[in-house]
Amino acid sequence: MTVEIPGQSYRGRFAPSPTGPLHLGSLLAAMGSYLESLRLGGEWLLRMEDLDPPREMPGAADQILRSLEAHGFEWHGPVMYQSDRSEHYLRAISQLQAAGWLFACRCSRRELAKVASQSAGGPVYPGTCRELDLKDQPGRALRVRVPAVELSFHDQLRGRICSKLARDSGDFVVRRRDGLTAYQLAVVVDDAAQNISHVVRGADLLDSTARQIALQRALDLPTPAYMHLPLILGDDGHKLSKQNGARGLDDRHALANLARAFGYLAPDIPSAPEFSGTAEFWAWASSQWQPAALTGRLVFAASASPSA
Ligand code: GLU
Repeated sequence: MTVEIPGQSYRGRFAPSPTGPLHLGSLLAAMGSYLESLRLGGEWLLRMEDLDPPREMPGAADQILRSLEAHGFEWHGPVMYQSDRSEHYLRAISQLQAAGWLFACRCSRRELAKVASQSAGGPVYPGTCRELDLKDQPGRALRVRVPAVELSFHDQLRGRICSKLARDSGDFVVRRRDGLTAYQLAVVVDDAAQNISHVVRGADLLDSTARQIALQRALDLPTPAYMHLPLILGDDGHKLSKQNGARGLDDRHALANLARAFGYLAPDIPSAPEFSGTAEFWAWASSQWQPAALTGRLVFAASASPSA
């Protein structure tokens, strides 16, 4: 079921991490949010999530932007770079600290791997440092004391999703031991700063949403609407990603790439006609796109696209 929010104008975004070039999986996420902005007559913004230099690939941010351009995406305003925004993250951390949400944690990843249980969203923090009242100092992470309540939200394709953070992630990190801001905090601060009304992204981030909503509430920020798109699975049964070697898109074949990605998002539409250019593709695709066709669908097999 797709829920429209009357009177609320659409402001969507695509927020790639520059860990590699745009690939079919990330094109799908970009396409989903872009099609929603076209369907609902809203704006679409870009944010480069370059806040984890050790994981980044030199040149990938520019390459992603060139690729998006080659595929005919048009974004509103300048690109936001998370690497420019540390003062905003620090301010949010101070706000959380002042309200008593955070505690310092000295556990290493290796120590936690030995003791933490696993949930679908990764390891669950067992609360080791929660009550130790450790000093906040370099080399220590900052974690959010998660409330022991159930949190629910509406996903536009999946309906009501319930999460108990204490069970699903435990107290999660907002500032890492290496001093870098954690994705969960940055995404919440920036979605609010960019005034994002609708987040459309891959279902690999579904497990993060409850943490993000908890942070929005703690920081007194609005919660956008959420839609998590099915993921393309590779032949190995894992999500197609940069990590498992998904190939970068060849920009010279933009129209074929677009048609292929759209084949996943619009499984009921047999095949795309021939287009002379990307503008023509987007005009056609936005007139055909109906997110409700994806309701309840969890994954796409890599071979499922008509033009795969
Ligand atoms: N930067 C994240 C990624 O590339 C996406 C963040 C989001 O859409 O919230 O996986």
